Amino acid sequence: MRTIFRYNRFMSNNLSKLLLNWYEKNGRDLPWRVRGGAHPDPYVVLVSELMLQQTTVKTVIPYFHRFMKRFPTIQSLAEAPLEEVYLYWQGLGYYTRARSLHTTAGIITDQFGGRFPKTRKEVLKLKGIGNYTVASFLALAFNRPETVIDGNVTRIICRLYNLTDPINEITDLIHQKAEALTDRKHSADYASAIMDLGAVICTPKKPRCLLCPWQDFCLSKGRENLENIPFRKKTNKKEKNGFVYLVFNDKNEIFIRKRTEKGLLSGLYEFPWSEEKLFAEATNTGLEVSHIFTHIKLSLHICKLSVNTFPGSGKFIPIQELSSYPFSTLMKKVYQKFSANLVP
Ligand code: SF4
Repeated sequence: MRTIFRYNRFMSNNLSKLLLNWYEKNGRDLPWRVRGGAHPDPYVVLVSELMLQQTTVKTVIPYFHRFMKRFPTIQSLAEAPLEEVYLYWQGLGYYTRARSLHTTAGIITDQFGGRFPKTRKEVLKLKGIGNYTVASFLALAFNRPETVIDGNVTRIICRLYNLTDPINEITDLIHQKAEALTDRKHSADYASAIMDLGAVICTPKKPRCLLCPWQDFCLSKGRENLENIPFRKKTNKKEKNGFVYLVFNDKNEIFIRKRTEKGLLSGLYEFPWSEEKLFAEATNTGLEVSHIFTHIKLSLHICKLSVNTFPGSGKFIPIQELSSYPFSTLMKKVYQKFSANLVP
């Protein structure tokens, strides 16, 4: 038993060394990344981690630069109005992250006196920080011995150990394997390294096994159906349809309203929409936009309506002011499609 344990420890150490060596030569240079330990500014780590949730590195980079230029410190972010934060987040989607980041900036400045929390218990008091982000924040900002497990890491671990059962049935096993591999003394670099391995080598499609530092130990290398690992049971997205109204008054101003502070796309502006057709007098333009949210595919028919008053809260604004308000990607798509087709 003891021999097996020693062997496993030896293997894990070896694998993490191989990965760190690979990272030293091949790791990506990213604007929020340093090498050789923790980042000197935890704020940079916090912003990038929130932005990277559900979004690719390539998409995040320009948003990150713009955001950091406008909000270079946690204090500047805490003092800014939420609506302005939304404007700088516009296009990244998943706006609850922007709200969480803003709330977190307030908590750090008010409750922690501007000091960044360094323990799991404290970090969990922040907003929008789940288990994955706690681990990556503590590893990257403070080199704490945390194991980062996201979709990338899950894929690599399943392939490395040839774990082919549905991943929701083997989460504990994946965690154990990932933890055993983590280099606890170099957790910041290890976290970045395994992310890069998943992003550029052990990719979902066409993994580049011949360039992989773990190829000699991988139990799946060469398998015909490698792309099917990890195995995820499919869940069907619900489909919803509805109508969105571009409402103009006599002055050719457009009606917008703010969503409630809770729920999907909360706090953002939108054009009125509903799953039912509400206004018989509205012209259906024949245009349609679709957007996929986490669990729903929503398709909206674009309708045009000319009235001078509109029920409910909201306001008419000049069209050229639309860019001053934060809109969801779906609503931006609606207006872009409408204006591109210039419906009279
Ligand atoms: S050898 Fe291939 S499948 Fe295995 S970990 Fe490396 S890239 Fe992934």
